Amino acid sequence: MARTQVAVIGAGPSGLLLSQLLYLNGIDNVVLERQSREHVAGRIRAGVLEPGTVDLLLQAKVGERLLSERLVHDGFALGFAGRSFRVDLKRFTGDAVSVYGQTEVTKDLTDARLAAGAKLIFDAAEVSVEGFDGAHPMVRYSHGGRTHELNCDFIAGCDGYHGVCRRSVPEGASQSFERFYPFGWLGILADVPPVADELIYSNNARGFALCSMRSLMRSRYYVQCPLDEKLEQWPDERFWDELRRRLPAQVAEALVTGPSIEKSIAPLRSFVVEPLTFGRLFLVGDAAHIVPPTGAKGLNLAAADVRVLFQGLTEYYRTGRSEGIDRYSEQCLRRIWKAVRFSWWFTSLTHKFSEDPFSHRLQLAELDYLTGSEAALASLAENYVGLPFERTDCKAAPSETSAVPTAPPHR
Ligand SMILES: Cc1cc2nc3c(=O)[nH]c(=O)nc-3n(C[C@H](O)[C@H](O)[C@H](O)COP(=O)(O)OP(=O)(O)OC[C@H]3O[C@@H](n4cnc5c(N)ncnc54)[C@H](O)[C@@H]3O)c2cc1C
Repeated sequence: MARTQVAVIGAGPSGLLLSQLLYLNGIDNVVLERQSREHVAGRIRAGVLEPGTVDLLLQAKVGERLLSERLVHDGFALGFAGRSFRVDLKRFTGDAVSVYGQTEVTKDLTDARLAAGAKLIFDAAEVSVEGFDGAHPMVRYSHGGRTHELNCDFIAGCDGYHGVCRRSVPEGASQSFERFYPFGWLGILADVPPVADELIYSNNARGFALCSMRSLMRSRYYVQCPLDEKLEQWPDERFWDELRRRLPAQVAEALVTGPSIEKSIAPLRSFVVEPLTFGRLFLVGDAAHIVPPTGAKGLNLAAADVRVLFQGLTEYYRTGRSEGIDRYSEQCLRRIWKAVRFSWWFTSLTHKFSEDPFSHRLQLAELDYLTGSEAALASLAENYVGLPFERTDCKAAPSETSAVPTAPPHR
């Protein structure tokens, strides 16, 4: 029977990044992915990286293309009441965000893992996780027409919202918190120059719009739409017309349109499961939490989980001490809930929730206040670039007894 130290379920950004960091620290791991390599590489998702995420990718030695191709954004714009206001991230935080698509992050990580001879198994079917409440977890899966069993010390559930790991936790052992928003985002990708150098988040009486980008020649635009909307109802021309109507006039005039190369509708939700650790199973990234994309926290939160878990596992394998992995859930949840709060707040401020004109006036008043207050802008900027990682003076006292069922560490 095959054996590894850490079985990583899912080859999205969290699974690949964790695998790469563990590998660089001498920790053996196997990644099992349900989809094909092409399917994973083709998914169009997030595009804004916090500086902390960039640092972690550099630490994972996959930063070369990122540093040469990313677009560094020192600010972004808020559109409302027919005007556009620039939020100066650099001024308030001394930092900036990087525009670099999740597709590219995934490609860089996949290339690095395969170049290092990683055990990265695509098209793994019927993955199941067992025994994580004891000292001998096991993963079973089908591949190439055969059933395989993989023994391991730990399982990292990096398998997204619809994955198998969270669903394998015994009933009653976890609590979920969820909020559905009564709308979705209709997004298109087009090979046209972006309408502005930086992102524009636009509040409009017709609904929210976002002007984003992936490169100097590839734009990503979104409009808020009803949840039951179908893509067939949105030929490109209708999308461009609607987008123009939701942008400040000067921005709308500058919009360059072209045929879409991708179009999709994503529902918006906030979701958190607690805790993130069940014996020797850790939930990571979207498997544990979802945020609405307003504020671009999803991928960055996934990277933040990976940072905490890889540090904890490295400490465990180097010293036998389990404080880091014991505190994984508690430490991550503090950051997760702050990001959930920020994403919810930013969504509430910029989206249309009802036809009620009173609610829209309140949003406009809050935007007016925000853009006129140094304190409020500093708070927005601080959350947007990503809150600092936990200070040592916030650390809980090390636990006397380990929460991890005992098994000797590999040396
Ligand atoms: C349509 C869409 C648009 C988004 N836009 C943004 C955005 O603009 N900004 C932002 O910050 N975030 C955005 N996000 C969120 C962001 O993409 C996610 O937070 C990020 O992908 C999380 O990475 P992950 O690796 O944790 O999960 P995922 O990317 O979901 O990866 C999980 C992986 O596990 C695999 N898997 C699932 N089940 C199994 C199984 N049983 N066995 C083996 N493998 C399995 C999946 O195939 C997948 O490859 C978006 C998400 C979606 C769905």
